[in-house]
Formats: sequence, structure tokens, C-alpha cells
Amino acid sequence: MLDTTRSEEAFRIACRVIPGGVDSPVRAARAVGRNPVFLARGEGAHVWDVDGNGYVDYVGSWGPLICGHAHPAVVEALCRAAQQGSSFGAPTEAETALAEEIRRAYDAVEMVRFVNSGTEATMSALRLARGATGRDYIVKFEGCYHGHSDSLLVKAGSGALTNGNPSSAGVPKEVAEKTLVARYNDSESVAALFDRYRERIAAVIVEPVAGNMGVVPPDPGFLLDLRALTLEQGTVLIFDEVMTGFRVDYGGASRYYGVLPDLVCLGKVIGGGLPLAAFGGRADLMQGLAPLGPVYQAGTLSGNPLAVAGGLATLKLLQEPGTYENLFKTTADLADGLEGIARDCGVPLQVNRVGAMFSAFFADEPVVDYESACNADADRFARYYRAMLEAGVYLAPSQFEAAFVSTAHSGQDIAFTLEQAERAMRAL
Ligand code: PLP
Repeated sequence: MLDTTRSEEAFRIACRVIPGGVDSPVRAARAVGRNPVFLARGEGAHVWDVDGNGYVDYVGSWGPLICGHAHPAVVEALCRAAQQGSSFGAPTEAETALAEEIRRAYDAVEMVRFVNSGTEATMSALRLARGATGRDYIVKFEGCYHGHSDSLLVKAGSGALTNGNPSSAGVPKEVAEKTLVARYNDSESVAALFDRYRERIAAVIVEPVAGNMGVVPPDPGFLLDLRALTLEQGTVLIFDEVMTGFRVDYGGASRYYGVLPDLVCLGKVIGGGLPLAAFGGRADLMQGLAPLGPVYQAGTLSGNPLAVAGGLATLKLLQEPGTYENLFKTTADLADGLEGIARDCGVPLQVNRVGAMFSAFFADEPVVDYESACNADADRFARYYRAMLEAGVYLAPSQFEAAFVSTAHSGQDIAFTLEQAERAMRAL
């Protein structure tokens, strides 16, 4: 039995001062019927909890740590930056360098603005789209999560879905009414909304690979259909690449699928584990932002020097030849291995993978949208999750999340994980 005495005590104390003991709901691990372990340290692909238990980590801080924990090059860059001052609230040359690098990676991006979280990136991109078009309605997809701003907490994924409350309390009805919801992988459902709300839709926002109802790749043609429909209607197409950016390709899903959105939202990887996100896209749209244009957007810590240094160091590591080939091979070895084990054990498992992210759903039928994701067996996942944690494998405590592989995961880590998965599945 895993000894988590100190984690349990830490959780009890945290619950006195932090609602639910956590700063982000899905961390609470309620969906898998246990309390969270409190983490103390990470190195490479491994984390250790406050009781000293070690785990192979597939959460990677929910995506940012594509080069693993405490990568020496990232740590060095952070130390160097910290010695120069942690924040100025003034422009720095490093910000421009990171913006240039993002522009090199993304054909759709001509200009970039940095913010502190994915939530801010999507919220600001929507405001910009509304400002540019003079329209109020937006379209999002059921099960997609774009952070926790009011307009986007409507039929959302991630923790909102895990906790059974995809549309949050506290969002004014008048705001929620402006968010129209379509079905992922169903461009007809978008066309139907355009028919009904002709010339009133400012933006369509989509996770080009859904990752917050678990990983659901786009059907061939889905993203191209969205591009064609939005062009026809003068609507801004926003790719939320907070999760997929620099993870499914150096140029994200936009490059992987060869579709050019008008705006792209980034986060996670671009901060190398520090709070950094961005939105960028067509210059004529981006120039609508203050101080050039009428759309206001700002931030005390935006483009923070430490976060920018972490991001630059991470992107530099990712540019080393062979990085993505190796990363994708490691991820495929794990995803294919899980599929094989499940088959041998007679456990129905659907594994969806794109690049270095995947989800393994305990489901009989392929998972292609929100509805099929919800058909997955949550109880079976909870048992699997608990067995894997006991065995030293740290997974996201919800089936509606992606697993993230890093460049630090070794063949040995994958072999160990598969061994434990086989044991766990045989016991299911
Ligand atoms: N967009 C996507 C696709 C995400 O996966 C997330 C977070 O998981 C967000 C936006 C929100 O980002 P943040 O948690 O940094 O606010």
C-alpha cells in the first residue's frame, strides 16, 4: 500500500484555507475517489510526493513541461533571468525574441501579444474578434475547454466536465446566451448556426485537436470546413492551441493539419512551466488592440521576464534535430502498448493520440466527440487510476484529460508504465 500519510495531512490543512484544498478543481482527484497527493519535487519524467513516493509523470503540469521537470537548460535560463530582475512592467528584448520565434513557427501569426494564462489568451482573442467585427455571438464546441472566462464556461470540458458542471453558476444568462454551442467534428452543426445567426457571429473558437474531453482528433476536413464557413461569413476563426501549440508539431495543429486560422491562442509549452500565454494572428486584427486600436487588453505581469526566459529555453530545446520524431515515437510506443495490453486483457479501450498527447478511454466505441467521450466508463477509469498511482504512475485524475509525454520519458519509463498498466488492467 502506498503510504500517503503526509499528503493526507497536508490536504486536511489545505482544505481549511483553500476551497477544496486546491487552486484548480481537477487537481482534487474527486472523480477517481481519492484525495490528491501533494508533490514536492520533479526531475525529468519523474515526480516525488511529500511522503517520498516517486512516480513516472504523465501530467507534466497539464502540458507545459514538454522537456520534463527542471530541465537543466531551463533552470539555468530562469536563474540567469532572475538575477537580472524578476519583473519590470516595461518592454524587454526577450519578449520580442519570443514573439519572433512564435511567428516563425506559425504561418498564421504576424503579431503576438503575451498574457499570463490560457484563460486570458482566449478571453482577449474573443474580445478582439468582437471588436473587429462589431458582432456579439460566438460559437464554441461542446466538450472543448478554453479556460474559465464567462463567455467560454458554457458546455465546457476539463474540470468543469469532470465535476459534472460543464456550464458554471455565476455566468450571467445574457452572457451565456451569446455563446452558441456546436458539436465537435460536425461542421453541419456550425453551418446550421450560421444559417440562423447570419452575420451576427464574431468568432468560432475551437481546440483544433480537442484535449479537454480527453483527446479527440479532428475528422479529416473538419478544420477546413470551419475555415471555409468562417471565411464565407466574415467570422474570425480562432484556434485555441493552448494545449496543442508546440506539442503536436513545432507549429502546432495549424501546421500539422495545414489550416490557417485568423487568430491562435497559445499557453502551456510557451512558458516552459511558468505562467505565460499569448494570442496572435493577422496583423490587421492584432492592430485593433490598445494602444493602436480600440480593443483594450493589458496585464501587470504580461511578458514576465522569467516566464519568457523559460519559454525561450524550452523552444530552443525543441528545435534540436530529431526532437519531435523521438517524442512522437515514445508517445506512440506507449499508446500502442496500452492498446495491445487492453486487447490481451479483454478490456475495451479506445486510444486517441496526436503527436505527444493521448487519451485512453475505457469505451467500446471510438471516441469522436463529446457524446462518445461521455460514454466511457468512469468507474473503470477510477479503479485503473488508483492502481496506477499505487504502482508509481502519475496520471491525470480524470478520463476527460490528455496524457502528456515529454522528451525526458525514456524507453525504461515506458516499459515500466506498460508493465504496471498490464497488471492494473488484468485486475479490472
Ligand atoms: N485552452 C485550452 C485548450 C486549455 O487546455 C486550457 C487549460 O487547460 C486553457 C485554454 C486555459 O488555460 P489556463 O489554465 O492557463 O488558463
